[in-house]
Amino acid sequence: MCGIIGYVGTRDCVPLLISGLKRMEYRGYDSSGIAIINDDKIHIYKKKGKIEELEKGLLQNPHSATIGIGHTRWATHGAPTEVNAHPHTSFSGDVAVIHNGIIENYSELKQALLLKNHTFRSDTDTEILAHLIEEFYEGDLQKAVIRALHRVEGTYGIAVLHAGEPDKIVVARKGSPLVIGIGDGEYFVASDLAAMVEYTRDVIFLEDGEVGTISREGLTHTTLEETRIDRKSTHIDFSLDQIEKGGYKHFMLKEIMEQPHTLEDTMRGRIQVDEGNIILGGLQGHLDALKKAEHILLLACGTSYHSALVGRYLIEEWARIPVQVEYASEFRYRNPLIEKNTIAFAISQSGETFDTLEAMREARKRGALCLGIVNTVGSTIARETDGGIYLHAGPEIGVASTKAFTSQVTVLTMLGVLLGRQRGMSAEEGRNILGDLRKMPDLVARILRTKDDLLDIAKTFSRASNFLYLARGPNYPVALEGALKLKEISYIHAEGYPAAEMKHGPIALIDRKMPVVFIATNDNVYAKVLTNIEEVRSREGVVIAVASEEDKGIEHLADHVLRIPDCHPMLMPLLTVIPLQLLSYYVADILGLDVDKPRNLAKSVTVE
Ligand code: GLU
Repeated sequence: MCGIIGYVGTRDCVPLLISGLKRMEYRGYDSSGIAIINDDKIHIYKKKGKIEELEKGLLQNPHSATIGIGHTRWATHGAPTEVNAHPHTSFSGDVAVIHNGIIENYSELKQALLLKNHTFRSDTDTEILAHLIEEFYEGDLQKAVIRALHRVEGTYGIAVLHAGEPDKIVVARKGSPLVIGIGDGEYFVASDLAAMVEYTRDVIFLEDGEVGTISREGLTHTTLEETRIDRKSTHIDFSLDQIEKGGYKHFMLKEIMEQPHTLEDTMRGRIQVDEGNIILGGLQGHLDALKKAEHILLLACGTSYHSALVGRYLIEEWARIPVQVEYASEFRYRNPLIEKNTIAFAISQSGETFDTLEAMREARKRGALCLGIVNTVGSTIARETDGGIYLHAGPEIGVASTKAFTSQVTVLTMLGVLLGRQRGMSAEEGRNILGDLRKMPDLVARILRTKDDLLDIAKTFSRASNFLYLARGPNYPVALEGALKLKEISYIHAEGYPAAEMKHGPIALIDRKMPVVFIATNDNVYAKVLTNIEEVRSREGVVIAVASEEDKGIEHLADHVLRIPDCHPMLMPLLTVIPLQLLSYYVADILGLDVDKPRNLAKSVTVE
């Protein structure tokens, strides 16, 4: 999620670390820091805010060294403050660690270290690593890192320094990217190629479960089991722009494609499949209130509003509590009624959406307990709510939200199970739902592999002036989201409707030129949706159906079929939205539009 850079060689590393960090700042970070070694001592400089702040501080107080590591943080545990910024040091200050990812079992490890009299300065999961490495250190940093990593659950890309071995950087990865750059008598490490292409294009990509030590003399590269690895370097000849987008043409496509990973991150450490239970750290202090809740209020705008609509189906079905979903902007001005024992959730990717923030404040004034579902740690909504659930989807840069939507739906699914289990949902039902939820990353990946089919369909329809999106049940909000995505980035007029509403008006629009996207998956309204498809066909409308891989019959009814695997019917929105995201992306790209920065839109809407 964040940016890592490291250097060991003969030049002054400070300007190099800063320029590397700046190259990664395009992803939007909240704090940064560096650690360098001089006179066998580790020196740390950290700042909250942009890299510029760190740079300014270092200009006023110049330093130089030939070995160092640097980090830009995108917080997952603990607010974006200077204390929480990386590098984190051990008890004695001899170990410095920068980390990208999430240590799932950090609180367990922290308890054990507290018993050994360690004291902690930050609220991060990362600081545990520095202490753990120090615990295991017996004169060989790489060995200590390996021993520590055997204790850790979760994801990491790390770079570690030790004052006692002042010419080495130890790096390791699991689930977070890391690449080693080879220069002439110098080595680099970074989480992002962009940070080092200025200096070298000969690189070795680290794989999961691998550790490396770089020094001026060379690279030692092994597995966590200490088996030696001899990997040849690769020469990179992409442009910087391509590198920043992970090789994809746009951030939006990159973010669509990374959803199997972001869904994993959203679920990480929160699901106990065997017990059919959910543990959400940010709600632990409110479990009683959640149990007593008689009304749930979901406040949101745009794409987050659509995820809230999905959430309503899930929570009402599993927990049998009435759920009200409100456009935040409408809620705050209509003298709303808040019943006793209402819990309001403010849902916003950025955590800064002004309307949602104000609606949340209004709900609180009227007596609701306010919780947040946000992606950005330490954002205003995160700070002002009494608790909440982070998405952990990583920074989203494309203005049209994609991965945040699926992470929001995943969070609402977990919330639905948590509330359900508090109200009599059996452990077995919990197990079934969560077992299926765990499969979602693989199923999403399966759909993403068919992306070229979407490209073909997009080519056929990129000149259409209008689109209709129809669906029922939990897929109905996905129809709204599909239409919104198309509007946002392709500027084609599109409407989403509950399929059965078509006959009450929109049917008048249907003719040969009108593509109608139906979500027709295997559920209790499948037959009804087929009837709606017939109605469109008999008016010569063109039908694009999102349907099950198993559904052979649909081919006789639809002009084009987008296939998705079968899953639990309530979890379908996580799958059905994927082809719709891809369809809008390809249409906009074929039209030559600026997909990542569509006209008139802003990523974080901080105005009313
Ligand atoms: N989990 C770590 C933290 O919150 C690392 C976050 C990151 O990847 O930037 O500090």
